[in-house]
Amino acid sequence: MVPKSAKPPRLTHLGRVWLLLGVAGLLSALAGMLVVVGELVTRSAPALLFAASLALYSALLVMLARAFAQPGERAIDRTTDPLSSLANRRALHEDLARHSRGREEVAIALIDLDGFKAINDHFGHSVGDMLLKSCAALLRDTCGEEAKCYRLGGDEFAAVMAGHAAGTILEGMCRMLLERLAAPLSAGGHELVVGASIGLARSRKGDRCPSSELLRRADVAMYMSKRGGKMRCTWFNPAFDERREMVRGIEDDLRRSLDAEEFGLLYQPLIDAGSGRIVAVEALLRWHRPDGREIGPTTFVPVAEETGLINQIGVWVLEQAMRDAQRWEGITLSVNISAAQLRNPEFPIKLGELLEQTGFPPERLELEITETCLVLDPVVAERSLAMIRAFGVHISLDDFGTGYASIGFLRQFRFHKLKLDRSLISTASRDDGSRAMIISSIAMARALDMEVTAEGVETREQADLVRTAGADHIQGWLFYRPLPAAEIDRLYADQTAQEIGLHRPDTKDRVA
Ligand code: C2E
Ligand code: MG
Ligand code: MG
Repeated sequence: MVPKSAKPPRLTHLGRVWLLLGVAGLLSALAGMLVVVGELVTRSAPALLFAASLALYSALLVMLARAFAQPGERAIDRTTDPLSSLANRRALHEDLARHSRGREEVAIALIDLDGFKAINDHFGHSVGDMLLKSCAALLRDTCGEEAKCYRLGGDEFAAVMAGHAAGTILEGMCRMLLERLAAPLSAGGHELVVGASIGLARSRKGDRCPSSELLRRADVAMYMSKRGGKMRCTWFNPAFDERREMVRGIEDDLRRSLDAEEFGLLYQPLIDAGSGRIVAVEALLRWHRPDGREIGPTTFVPVAEETGLINQIGVWVLEQAMRDAQRWEGITLSVNISAAQLRNPEFPIKLGELLEQTGFPPERLELEITETCLVLDPVVAERSLAMIRAFGVHISLDDFGTGYASIGFLRQFRFHKLKLDRSLISTASRDDGSRAMIISSIAMARALDMEVTAEGVETREQADLVRTAGADHIQGWLFYRPLPAAEIDRLYADQTAQEIGLHRPDTKDRVA
């Protein structure tokens, strides 16, 4: 059944030409037949039919002429993106194929907007469309006449340039584009900021790199820009392909290892800078592969983040750590949370469930997040953090001193604690700048009512420095390495015994 509102089908221009051609052919055939069997009709009938078919043929010629007289306009329809008026993906493929014969250098930049989805979700699609138009205009303006710009769909754009030093010039344009994107763009009465991750690839004169390969390389490079923290351009490097292979291998193993229970946790104690008492433990993930090969979290956690597996792994970490730390009353449990987890809107809900299931006191739980978690998606992060805080769970900023966190940033997110990164501590003895930064960071944390932990303390000298500077807690190999839960059980028992006056003599053995 045809719905009431359905419009009758409309013929395209070419359809009309074919219809007329059919009718004209039919009339001519009829006229021919009548001439052959002329005795059955009067002499005037074929003449009339000839006249009619002549008229039809004329109309046909006019339509054909119209169809082919405007090739430019028709081509624009097929190769232009209607929203941005930039060339589209089809045009990009055609242009690259034309340039890939190796007669001259050709370079491509793939530009993917950062944070566009959040804006679209927050302000609606019409504002999103306006923002895309503004970005398109900015891109076109930045590239001028030298490079051709494209919108490939969604929030993905491209620019192609051919000729001498095309790659170098295009890279300059991309850097300029990133600079210009740092300022807000107007869209629908809002001033909005979007970022961009750019991947660059080139085929030098004589290279004859197929267009599909050039596109793939630019895509891989763009992906590396995204991973590297966004708002950057990255040239394709063959090592990226090797890394991808490695990532794929780890990814397959990671999936399997979740079921095979190959993960384990170690706990590194944090001591009170004054008394030396253990006040907290940080849960650190370990992967015990069946082949005996150890891969550290700095290698496999980023892969788990990229593949989304970190959500499952992260839940396992939280649950296991809460169950272990249940026994260490009075001691805070710190758990590392990655950006991908924080971006997942389900995360706070899952955390609430876990707190309920395990009965772990929320005020004893502290989640460690890094700056990148917040920079990538501040709106979502802020929302999740508010829910997490509402449970009574504390949030601390890990690896402070490695990024660009400003005072405004620290005030906005109101962390419970700052953890000064090991790189600051380890260079403090020979670098006045690091020493000054430790002292001023601690003073600032005090002013903002935050606690401070100094991470990676390996020497007495470093411990003295951070203690004098006013750090509340110290974490590092000088005191404790990451230890299995059973070791923490023993340390905890010793500490408790000491506190109630039952001194056990073997305590010192495990303190470095
Ligand atoms: P992090 O959170 O900054 O953890 C501290 C890292 O420094 C740990 O490395 C710890 O073993 C190491 N460390 C502590 N004291 C010293 C020291 O005195 N000297 C030296 N050289 N190193 C010290 P680890 O265990 O390899 O973890 C590395 C990173 O992996 C962690 O850095 C954290 O960002 C991430 N990570 C670990 N476990 C998890 C997890 O369960 N989830 C997530 N998302 N990330 C995790
Ligand atoms: Mg940490
Ligand atoms: Mg850290």
